[in-house]
Amino acid sequence: MTAAPLHNTPHHTSALVLFSGGQDSTTCLAHALERFPRVETLGFDYGQRHSVELQARPVVLRELRERFPAWADRLGEDHVLDLAVLGKVSETSLTRDMAFRMEENGLPNTFVPGRNLLFLTLAAALAYRRGIQVIVTGVCETDFSGYPDCRDDTMKALQVALSLGMDHRFLIDTPLMWIDKAATWRLAETLGGKTLVDLIVEHTHTCYLGDREHRHAWGYGCGSCPACELRARGWSNYVGPLG
Ligand code: ZN
Repeated sequence: MTAAPLHNTPHHTSALVLFSGGQDSTTCLAHALERFPRVETLGFDYGQRHSVELQARPVVLRELRERFPAWADRLGEDHVLDLAVLGKVSETSLTRDMAFRMEENGLPNTFVPGRNLLFLTLAAALAYRRGIQVIVTGVCETDFSGYPDCRDDTMKALQVALSLGMDHRFLIDTPLMWIDKAATWRLAETLGGKTLVDLIVEHTHTCYLGDREHRHAWGYGCGSCPACELRARGWSNYVGPLG
């Protein structure tokens, strides 16, 4: 696979990608590698119930380097920050051993209040130190969950607040903001062809229960948690009735 020409503007030569090891952030990473000559990655360890997702990160990075030599030249340092404090301040099924349910406010109990605000703030602090201008994140308004800290307005407000607060012009790039999961698969195909789609299916992890035993056409997972259902539905819409 040869990389397409760079589409970066002269002002933006480097990017920091919030990279969890899931489908969305891997697609965002490919998007960044296609655009920016220098790309670094950032993950957070906040006492997730299952470390499967964190374990997927180095595997995905290794596979990207092996299968896309042109991207390998652009892919720089990987950073992981310990955010165990997040598990201490929030009651959520992502960090505690409790069942999924919808809360009275209409949000699933996987919602960690302010999580993305913290993520973006720490990403900006790291980007500042690394001299990076663009922060890429896979937040999305079209998902079922409607997390308020994934909304476009939240990201725009953060971009202004962080740029003012650090006196450094940040751009928060959200390539998935207005597309659904089927379009996310299509975007991966556009960026890296079937090679990238196969890599994402095989090596990225999304399932809330950390299931790596059951292999489906769309990848590994329990098949019934909200994250699996979303990924499976997106996949079947992507491949269509003949897939
Ligand atoms: Zn699952």
